[in-house]
Amino acid sequence: MLMQEITTKKLAGEALTPEEIEFAVGGFTEGSVPDYQMSALLAAICAKGMTAEETYVLTECMKSSGQVLDLSFIRGVKLDKHSTGGVGDKTSLVLVPLIAASRGKVVKMSGRSLGYTGGTIDKLESIPGFRTDLTREEMIAVADKVGCVISGQTAEIAPADKKMYALRDVTGTVSSIPLIASSIMSKKLASGADIILLDVKVGSGAFMKTREQALELAQTMVDIGKRAGKKVAAILTSMDVPLGNAVGNSLEVIEAVETLSGRGPGDFADICVMLAAYMVAMKDGREPGKCIYEIMDRLYDGTAKAKLRAMVEAQGGDPTYIDDTSKFPKAKYRVPVKAPQDGYLGQIDTHLVGLAAQAAGAGRKTKDEPIDHSAGIVLENDGEKRFKKGDVIATVHASSPEKAKEAEEILLSALSFSPNEYERMPLLMDAIFEQEETKGPEIKFTCK
Ligand code: URA
Repeated sequence: MLMQEITTKKLAGEALTPEEIEFAVGGFTEGSVPDYQMSALLAAICAKGMTAEETYVLTECMKSSGQVLDLSFIRGVKLDKHSTGGVGDKTSLVLVPLIAASRGKVVKMSGRSLGYTGGTIDKLESIPGFRTDLTREEMIAVADKVGCVISGQTAEIAPADKKMYALRDVTGTVSSIPLIASSIMSKKLASGADIILLDVKVGSGAFMKTREQALELAQTMVDIGKRAGKKVAAILTSMDVPLGNAVGNSLEVIEAVETLSGRGPGDFADICVMLAAYMVAMKDGREPGKCIYEIMDRLYDGTAKAKLRAMVEAQGGDPTYIDDTSKFPKAKYRVPVKAPQDGYLGQIDTHLVGLAAQAAGAGRKTKDEPIDHSAGIVLENDGEKRFKKGDVIATVHASSPEKAKEAEEILLSALSFSPNEYERMPLLMDAIFEQEETKGPEIKFTCK
């Protein structure tokens, strides 16, 4: 088989055979297929797409390039969730212990931040001692004992995806639905859970800017999961404003702990309860709406917070930071950002808010840059407040006045003001649950 012939076939719009896909992925992973040939094939896939069958085969090839976690040693049903990511998305910090408190087991492998998007691993590392480099055996032991574990993705998980993603990143071939779907699902399938919930974000701060694109991605991933014999559902949630108020590592951990103590921002608590309801519904074979009150009980009675505390302790972290979040070190400079005019906060460019937090020191521009755990931004925004010129709309947390100033300037360029209350996109925009598309939000939340 020749790579150039496979690429020519794809460029002619034809479907590739499983053998051809396996040849390309296998050869590229072991090094017999060079970067330039794989780049050409990836570009052809971007241009011509892939059938559902080809996308599934591609996923399976990437998954099988490494280890597939065997979670059968953990007692109970194993659940996982994936979010396509966004600004201020600290959902895993609340959702994972919430599922453990609802008799599910979660082995969650997460990533680090790069650019304006945050990474759960960096957030958790703001807790002194917290280990995110657990071995497979350690992850299984913690999940079995506590009910949940969050650790960094091991190098053995889908190495083909790692290599292909790095190539896509520098060849402008990231934004293709079959490539994104197979990349995400290869890692999820290799992570070994029985049930997977996909949270596909839509809006200015998300990878998918429109509802149509997000729905196509969600449907493609659900299809892959079902072909692989897993229980998979997807929901589309809005990312037209940052999730919650805090953007930055320890600031987000503090907000997550506040949420687990019943004092979190309404939109953030709502989304955690909603995701948990879908996951528990899949586990127990129930309607998501019927699981809501039980999940809210676990959130408000302290059970989920106790699970987070136990997980932190089991992973070597200091659990007293969960009891008392004032122990987290504060940034040296905490600079209030003032409203430049009267009005309600209107549209927010969430991507720019992420860049502002990065400028404050919360993110990294290259993958090995150190991170300032205490840096970031806290918005004073529930969407319902009418600001007067000069009112504080946010606080920038930074280690120097220069960083704070740069973050403030970017943040102000991200905000707009309107004379009337701005109507936000609904949090739940769509759901693919048991292959039936549910139009619009069907559940009313009362976390606020
Ligand atoms: N996240 C992934 O893991 N892969 C992609 O291709 C895009 C986002």
